[in-house]
Amino acid sequence: MSSDPHAGNVRGFETRAIHLGRDFVSDTGAVTPPVWLTSTFEYGNPNGFDYTRSGNPNFRLLDRTVASLEGAAFSTCFGSGVSAITAVVSTLKSGDVVVAEENLYGCTFRLFAQVFAKFGVSVVYLDFTDPASLEALASHTPALVWIESPTNPNLKVLDIAAVAEAAHAAGAPLLVDNTFASSYVQRPIELGADLSLISLTKYANGHSDALAGAVCTNSEEWNAKMIFAQKALGLQPAPMDCWLVSRGLKTLSIRMERHNANALTFAEFLERETDAVAVRYPFLPSHPQYEIAKRQMRGGSGIVTVDFGRNLAETQAFLGRLTLFPKAESLGGVESLCCHPASMTHASVPKERREAVGITDSLVRFSVGIETVEDLIADVRAALAKS
Ligand SMILES: *Cc1c(COP(=O)(O)O)cnc(C)c1O
Repeated sequence: MSSDPHAGNVRGFETRAIHLGRDFVSDTGAVTPPVWLTSTFEYGNPNGFDYTRSGNPNFRLLDRTVASLEGAAFSTCFGSGVSAITAVVSTLKSGDVVVAEENLYGCTFRLFAQVFAKFGVSVVYLDFTDPASLEALASHTPALVWIESPTNPNLKVLDIAAVAEAAHAAGAPLLVDNTFASSYVQRPIELGADLSLISLTKYANGHSDALAGAVCTNSEEWNAKMIFAQKALGLQPAPMDCWLVSRGLKTLSIRMERHNANALTFAEFLERETDAVAVRYPFLPSHPQYEIAKRQMRGGSGIVTVDFGRNLAETQAFLGRLTLFPKAESLGGVESLCCHPASMTHASVPKERREAVGITDSLVRFSVGIETVEDLIADVRAALAKS
């Protein structure tokens, strides 16, 4: 097979997902590549490997597949999504300003506030669904614009092409955290983003058994910075985790199709048949950015956020009665999970800030898995009925 990462792009998504991760097989014919559990490589080998912190065949196979599925020229893999975030922010310098969407992943917020602030990198948070924010962008002279879409946990959908245009007019590159959508559902680089960051831990791997992250780009300069950060900051993944994510990616499309279908059915049930105050799902016509979602996403992905309008104790009691939704952080696995953002994923965000961006005590986030959807619905129905 060709080692040119672009060569496979003429083929379909599923074909690339399954075939691009096979290489280095000439001596054995192995259909599934092994895990290269080696810290170092003999000097002068034909593929130029030297030390696993700066490269390993498992990284290379994963990057080739991720870049292709993301529609990007390059991908650099990292030990986690947070390592990927660290790699990007490490390219900034003291005095730089990042303009970010206000409903940002909790650990990204914490990294900026508790680590990078000490190094002089500051962040201005804006609501990117408000057109005034796009107009105000240039006035902050950003070094980087940082968004997620859909956002966590409010599932705001941001118009990536429009934000890319505004960022570029302000002279700044745009980073999109594409974790919630996955490469199957949305491709930020094709919509004009400069960097697409993915926590591969979630949908890409899909089985909740490994951690990894990646940064994808078409820019050789950004790619060189990411490769440098991987080795210089020690942000590399483990070969075994790369192997697991490479395997997970082979079924990304069929898993996402089921996540899309199950989550839509689940969201429709919550909206029609329960007394929920608000149900958020990008592909529900009631979603405020439904039209944008339809335009830039292939399906609504698997996360549904709902506000049952109950107090903290009642909300937690309801979650405790569910039997098919373990209460756990993370998302995007084949199994369903539920999460209480205010006390879990966003506990590191100060309460006033949380409430200001709509993360109330009554908010619940479901990661809808690929189980039989009627069973998921029955479980929620029973847990609501007992209250
Ligand atoms: C989980 C997550 C991350 C961080 O990824 P890890 O692999 O857990 O380090 C970043 N962004 C989003 C949107 C996430 O959901």
